[in-house]
Amino acid sequence: MRSLARAIDDMELPAVEKIAEESQEDPFEVLISTMLSAQTRDPVTAAASARLFKVARTPRTLARLTVKRIERLIYPVSFYRHKAKHVKETCRILVERFHGKVPAAMEELLTLPGVGRKTANLVLILSFKSLQNICVDTHVHRISNRLGWVATKTPDETEQALYKATDARWWPYINLYLVTWGQNVCRPVYPRCGECVIRAHCATGRALRS
Ligand code: SF4
Repeated sequence: MRSLARAIDDMELPAVEKIAEESQEDPFEVLISTMLSAQTRDPVTAAASARLFKVARTPRTLARLTVKRIERLIYPVSFYRHKAKHVKETCRILVERFHGKVPAAMEELLTLPGVGRKTANLVLILSFKSLQNICVDTHVHRISNRLGWVATKTPDETEQALYKATDARWWPYINLYLVTWGQNVCRPVYPRCGECVIRAHCATGRALRS
């Protein structure tokens, strides 16, 4: 993790981290942009979030937009029709049940439509500064398995296995480090093992060398 911290220092931040930084970790912007980011490339997520937040920056104002309008604002993120419905419904629930605020508890976040553990964990880490959560997306799942930290089949299994396999002081950073590494070096196909600074610590990298 220390090697990764140094290696990613001059790499671009993932889209949601950048949005979090620019919005002073606003929980609402982190929540909505994470919902938009699923299976969507970072530049598309960043542009869609910017268009949406220019029109509506709070649950109350966003809940007043029609689903069609939200669809047009967030297009071309993947599954934009589903996501538009989930975003509007989530905003309605935030207004009606949570006084227009994003809740800071996992159980409550998981009651929002379209919000799974990945999104909930990222909101808790980035906006509520939780030190108790690990956010596992497709990059974290893939790289943790390649490194040999875990041997798991799904992101949810990976999250639980990582709580046992890693030192708690790194939990809030695992997502940032591995997502950045996954976008730049340990890519889904053709990982750049030859120029990887953690190759000596990686089960896959070591196997390739032998
Ligand atoms: S050695 Fe290859 S598989 Fe292992 S972390 Fe580096 S890029 Fe990924």
